[in-house]
Amino acid sequence: MSDFDYDLFVIGGGSGGVRAARIAASEAGARVALAEESRYGGTCVIRGCVPKKLMVFASEFCHVPEEARGYGWSMQADGFDWTVFSKQLRTELDRLEGVYKSLLDKANVERFDTRATLRDAHTVELSDGTTKTAKHILVATGGHPVRPDIPNADLGMVSDDIFLMDELPKSVLIVGGGYIACEMACILHGLGVEVSQYIRGAQILNGFDDEARGLIADAMETRGIDLHTGTNIVEMCPADEAEARDADAAHMGAGVGETGAMVGDSSMKGTGQGRSAEGKTGPVWVKATSGREKVFDAVLFATGRAPNSSGMGLEDAGVRLGRGGKVEVDDYSQTSVPSVYAIGDVTDRVNLTPVAIREGMAFVETVFKGNPTPVDHALIPSAVFTQPELGSVGLTEEKAAEQEEVEVYCTSFRPMHSAFIGKPDRVLMKLVVSKENRTVLGCHIVAPGAGEMIQLAGVAVKMGATKEDFDRTCAVHPTMSEEIVTMRQPVRTA
Ligand code: NDP
Repeated sequence: MSDFDYDLFVIGGGSGGVRAARIAASEAGARVALAEESRYGGTCVIRGCVPKKLMVFASEFCHVPEEARGYGWSMQADGFDWTVFSKQLRTELDRLEGVYKSLLDKANVERFDTRATLRDAHTVELSDGTTKTAKHILVATGGHPVRPDIPNADLGMVSDDIFLMDELPKSVLIVGGGYIACEMACILHGLGVEVSQYIRGAQILNGFDDEARGLIADAMETRGIDLHTGTNIVEMCPADEAEARDADAAHMGAGVGETGAMVGDSSMKGTGQGRSAEGKTGPVWVKATSGREKVFDAVLFATGRAPNSSGMGLEDAGVRLGRGGKVEVDDYSQTSVPSVYAIGDVTDRVNLTPVAIREGMAFVETVFKGNPTPVDHALIPSAVFTQPELGSVGLTEEKAAEQEEVEVYCTSFRPMHSAFIGKPDRVLMKLVVSKENRTVLGCHIVAPGAGEMIQLAGVAVKMGATKEDFDRTCAVHPTMSEEIVTMRQPVRTA
């Protein structure tokens, strides 16, 4: 009999932690406990992928009446009701959280609905001061969104807040050009919000294939998202403060105040999602690096995420932290303290739910099943749920060309569904192929349903398929994705 209370204590009840706890208990017979301070399901289920995808579904209906009319239906939209949707969303998230809890309960994982921190290599401390010992401890605490370090940044929302809004703002400024910023820009625009987006770089979706992100940026702008590249916030404050400041300046004989053109703008009459540290709500005045001044009903910072590692007792217990507070781990997710492991976003490797789950499974395989299993982070397919979606696996053209000479097979066209009704929407299918051995190094798809397509293309790419393997595969006709197996000539070498 072990001297420890448990074989495994998991800190964090998100996708990775729950999977590891459940499998260790149910398949390896381990005595397992798990502590979660917030809601079970973590970022993905409660404030990330799941509610986001449901919002994508909701927003995509905005195109239905117009498209249906093009196909001969008579159809009108009566408008979107956020209160109806968000009530349903809350019910669904409650259901899913219940599923997560019951999975743990059925696997005999003991749950502590409280915060836990690391006391030493084998001990965790719960928020009421009680301690529990375990042979192994798994840190699976995830990450959180971060606001930029500028005055009044707390007037802006972060992604967690989006799902809790009582009402939709009439206008929003989204800051950032990554996954969350672009997905939220498309979602909110589809739900009828006037969306502006400030990106400090030259293009959205840094790190993705240039041609693909260019097409998505074009599509977003065509749909009406007001995209400003090379732009950031220099100053922000509650709109009423800016208005008062301008009135004072005018009173002092300074003429029209800085914000004169925009204060009183119709967006000030919106719902007021902005928040200040004192809990004040209301529209937000923003000055951009370009000099543009505008009042927005809400500002959303989608400027990245950071690991949930501070205040956890990790460093005091000897767990080494790396840049930005990520927990340093080896290929087996083991930290610098041998009995402590870490998985998921807290390790800041590839911050995606299925990756955290795989890291959890590999941890159980390694520690509880006697089968040391490194986590395979190569060729992970992923999707950005913009409208249109981006599906991507492997190297971008730019990265591949740095590594070796490549042939690029690429086509961009208006698919049947859009062409028939005269819509400008284009799709893109792209393969990046090694010139030397013909391996498909990267596949990039911009299209409705690209997330579904890339899952399947990802199998071929992961298997090391060559361009000729793609060519040997018969097309499925008529589909958009058939182009991925019918591109005969490279458009260029790089
Ligand atoms: P990202 O790191 O993807 O993007 C952050 C964006 O904010 C970048 O455009 C960055 O610019 C910009 N930025 C950072 N700091 C500042 C600043 N101080 N001022 C202005 N702009 C700034 O983070 P996200 O928050 O979008 O997403 C976090 C992670 O969540 C992703 O990496 C992804 O792993 C995961 N995720 C995955 C999804 C999916 O699979 N569909 C969906 C949502 C999230 P720059 O590029 O110049 O650095």
